[in-house]
Amino acid sequence: MKNLHLLLPLITLIIIAAATVDSSSSSPTVCIIGSGIAGSSVAHFLRTYSTSASTITTIKIFERHNIIGGRTAAVTLSNETFEAGASILHPKNYHALNYTKYLNLSIRNPPSSESDSSFGIWNGRDFTFKTLSINSNFSFLQRIVSLANEVLIFFRYGLSLFRMNSFVDSTVNYFLRYYEGFESRPVFASVEDMLRWSGLYNLTRRTLYEELIDAHLSRRLIEELVTVVTRINYGQSVSISGLAGAVSLAGCGSGLWSVEGGNRQMAAGLISHSDVELHLNEEVESVSFIKQTYHLNTTKGKSYQCGITVVATPLDEVKIQFHPGISIPERKLQHTYTTFVRGVINPGYFGLGSVSEVPQLVGTVENPDVPFSSISVLKQHKEDDMSYKVFSRKPLDDALLDRIFSVRNETVKIDWGAYPHYHAPEVFAPFILDGHHLYYVNAFENAASTIETSAVAAENIARLILSRLNGQEPVDPVNLKSFGDNASDVHADL
Ligand SMILES: Cc1cc2nc3c(=O)[nH]c(=O)nc-3n(C[C@H](O)[C@H](O)[C@H](O)COP(=O)(O)OP(=O)(O)OC[C@H]3O[C@@H](n4cnc5c(N)ncnc54)[C@H](O)[C@@H]3O)c2cc1C
Repeated sequence: MKNLHLLLPLITLIIIAAATVDSSSSSPTVCIIGSGIAGSSVAHFLRTYSTSASTITTIKIFERHNIIGGRTAAVTLSNETFEAGASILHPKNYHALNYTKYLNLSIRNPPSSESDSSFGIWNGRDFTFKTLSINSNFSFLQRIVSLANEVLIFFRYGLSLFRMNSFVDSTVNYFLRYYEGFESRPVFASVEDMLRWSGLYNLTRRTLYEELIDAHLSRRLIEELVTVVTRINYGQSVSISGLAGAVSLAGCGSGLWSVEGGNRQMAAGLISHSDVELHLNEEVESVSFIKQTYHLNTTKGKSYQCGITVVATPLDEVKIQFHPGISIPERKLQHTYTTFVRGVINPGYFGLGSVSEVPQLVGTVENPDVPFSSISVLKQHKEDDMSYKVFSRKPLDDALLDRIFSVRNETVKIDWGAYPHYHAPEVFAPFILDGHHLYYVNAFENAASTIETSAVAAENIARLILSRLNGQEPVDPVNLKSFGDNASDVHADL
């Protein structure tokens, strides 16, 4: 005991050494803030791509809620579970598809009755367009109605429909470059480099409206069908960027899928397969960079030391204090109010005589008097008992809901800080926030916000971390062979 004071400086030295070893060694602790698909994907790709030269020993994930998954969440309505956030995936979302194989999850394609469900465009007074519907179990009758609907849609929008499809296909093809092998695909230090290399950058510079006019789509198609889609998928108008718009339109094509039992299982499975120390119910309040180490302080009054920190959540509405401060462009999140109702829609609200006349998907055009973006039937339990999902830009009060629905047995309301409020030209936050080892996956959300874009950005962040640990800085952007070199931008190629 007498000699303890002699040992104290030594103990202090050992503690300081332990604190700094993280960032100086080749196997630092990685701390990830957020357990959504972005955070879980970073952990997964770090484990997958680690080599003996750049091994990550410890990965910690912090999640403020008591459940993994973030915006891939489920909602329970009268004992039935539905997707509350991200609900559908594109057939070419290859990371997500690989996750389902790796995690042995089953894929759910919408049953044909769901994909052939009736659809109408509501302008606040009447339906400007409505498909036919039939209540029959005979598949040949359903097929005839479906063909008749294709003719109806073609009759209204004409060749513009093909031009729209070609705009979407072309954008998807550029996006597919992100699945190329490492020999041809560099590690990107910024969102701009990543988008320029694939040929998608110019689509973030102009609005969807401008892109579609240049691609010779009719105004009617843009103001009706395209607007319906951007309102459903991003709660916004056709003045979102061309890239967010193309992603949004891709989300209404054929072959869409989801994970049986809930999309949330992808994030949960990736975390459980990646040897992660998971801290649920623990919100990170501050990140301080002291002596080459990040100190994360949490709401549990604890402090964690990490050589590398990854922010895997949008920073726009969370209150994490950074010391020293960081600088990112101001970005507003679009709030989407999702209201789930178990009950029956009121046909009178739409000037119709019976429930069966109300389309199963009611889309809307831009009109400030229309209080919702869309109403869709999630499940028909009985003829007079259905589950509905309503998207709106503002909260829907009970008086309004009682006008839209004649019966409401249960109502669940969710306010999502859903995705960025898109505008063109987009400005991007950096992937590396401080020039050291503080990374930001959700900088990519200004390009588009989906499960797959989060996974693609997360994969790049994992590669960026590992290559920088190996002492390799990403290639200078001017030396990147851009896909747009020969085709100066996407719309010129259409
Ligand atoms: C209503 C809605 C519908 C959508 N539809 C689709 C769709 O059909 N298809 C599709 O692909 N995408 C869709 N999206 C978008 C998709 O959900 C997101 O792009 C994606 O899930 C984002 O994942 P993420 O991991 O980047 O962020 P998030 O899922 O938001 O994860 C961030 C996590 O970080 C946690 N966190 C935040 N701050 C802290 C802190 N300080 N400390 C600890 N933890 C913290 C949060 O609680 C959250 O769990 C939709 C989104 C919404 C809201």
